[in-house]
Amino acid sequence: MDPRRGKATGTASKARTAPSKVSAQGVKGPREEPSESPSATGAARPNARKRSAVGASGSRRKSSPPASPETPQVRARGARAKKGPLDAEDAVEGQAVPAAKPPHPRAPSRRRGSARAAGEQRPPPEPTEGPGFGPRVSASGSAPGAWNPRAVLEKLRLRRQEISLAAETVNPVIDHLLRSLKSCDSEFKDVALLRTGSYYEHVKVSVPNEFDVMFKLEVSRIQLEEYRNSGAFYFVKFKRNPKGNPLSPFLEGEILSASKMLCKFRKIIKKEIESIKDVTVEKKKKGSPAVTLLFRKPKEISVDIILALEVNTSWPASTKSGLPIERWLGTKVRNSLRQQPFYLVPKHAKEGNGFQEETWRLSFSHIEKDILKSHGQSKTCCEINGLKCCRKDCLKLMKHLLEQLKIKFEKRKELEKFCSYHVKTAFFHVCTQKSEDSDWQTRDLELCFENCVTYFLQCLKIEHLEHYFIPGLNLFSRDQIDKISKEFLSQEIEYERNNGFPVFHKC
Ligand SMILES: [Zn+2]
Repeated sequence: MDPRRGKATGTASKARTAPSKVSAQGVKGPREEPSESPSATGAARPNARKRSAVGASGSRRKSSPPASPETPQVRARGARAKKGPLDAEDAVEGQAVPAAKPPHPRAPSRRRGSARAAGEQRPPPEPTEGPGFGPRVSASGSAPGAWNPRAVLEKLRLRRQEISLAAETVNPVIDHLLRSLKSCDSEFKDVALLRTGSYYEHVKVSVPNEFDVMFKLEVSRIQLEEYRNSGAFYFVKFKRNPKGNPLSPFLEGEILSASKMLCKFRKIIKKEIESIKDVTVEKKKKGSPAVTLLFRKPKEISVDIILALEVNTSWPASTKSGLPIERWLGTKVRNSLRQQPFYLVPKHAKEGNGFQEETWRLSFSHIEKDILKSHGQSKTCCEINGLKCCRKDCLKLMKHLLEQLKIKFEKRKELEKFCSYHVKTAFFHVCTQKSEDSDWQTRDLELCFENCVTYFLQCLKIEHLEHYFIPGLNLFSRDQIDKISKEFLSQEIEYERNNGFPVFHKC
């Protein structure tokens, strides 16, 4: 297995020195040019406003315990149909796609009363220009496309109880697995739970029968070799270690073999699960980095266990100008986040018509969790004594929208490759553009949600959704998702928007 040596210069590292202005008047679209970053990036931004929330040390404020009483160990998978990709970059190309349906008839926009044509660039939404200047448009009741976002959110809130119940079934088994892995003298004896994902971010909206769990394993003295110019995929090598390398059984030449490692991981889990009633391990799925547990009672639940390597070195060069939160959360916060470890999950990179089976993909789910938790410029945003914003509600609604559409079109192929990670990524970009807390006042929920939808639509239209951490990676490139699928989703979202989101009432 000879890894092709990818040039270490991702496109990401170039051309990011001149930050463009962050659009202050509404989300106009992700970027002027598809290849350019919409937002100010780059580590050093002399003009970046300081974030009052950050202490002198530059470290983030301490995380408080989760607000909700449950302490789930599982995270629920995001908008994913049964066969949906694990994550954005999981997308596999090359399936035949039926032609898109003709556009739906459009109802007049409830807000402006003007119909928008399918391919037409939508005018920027009414600006929330600067703090608090947004028009307080509320379409409560009368207009044709009227809908009530709060009622939808309430429904999602109720669903969380169901999710907690499901977690009660899953958690003891995960605990048992962790204990067994730690006690047996295997290469995995140092695994720990990585508490990331929508469950911990409190934005979980998906059906409560699918969960993700990440088991992390710290690795040291490794060297990463970027796979081609992917920015996201790497081969893992080890530096010489006189004490020996605990993972040496998984070496393939000098490369840490993701497939070998997963195989053993799977074997141990399978053996442990054998003794547990009503739980089985699903047959290995080609290309999937997860070991999937199937619970049969009290109801069917599937749990993906994902092995993640924890790396405590500086982040790879491809991330250098990613995480554009300087104006939103501040440079100090950004620096301190970038001092946290990063993770690698086993994930095949696409290679011609096949896959490179030994690659690992970057994961920043812990950072995503962190910025979702401490998402305000004011450190008290959404805390008991602070002002409440609608950022998380917008994300929940966005996730719900995609999820519902995926359910609606489950039989078709077009939405298979879209996942909640796409929505989340777009949401983060909107947060970057609308960095002020006053851009997200709860009374503007509807407008803010519409801004998010607009941004997402723009990304679909220009086929560009920049990975939030790896700017050189376009999650909507044609080799990730074909154009027809993007057009299809675009049309469906526009239809929803113009008709008061009827899909929200289907659950
Ligand atoms: Zn808030």
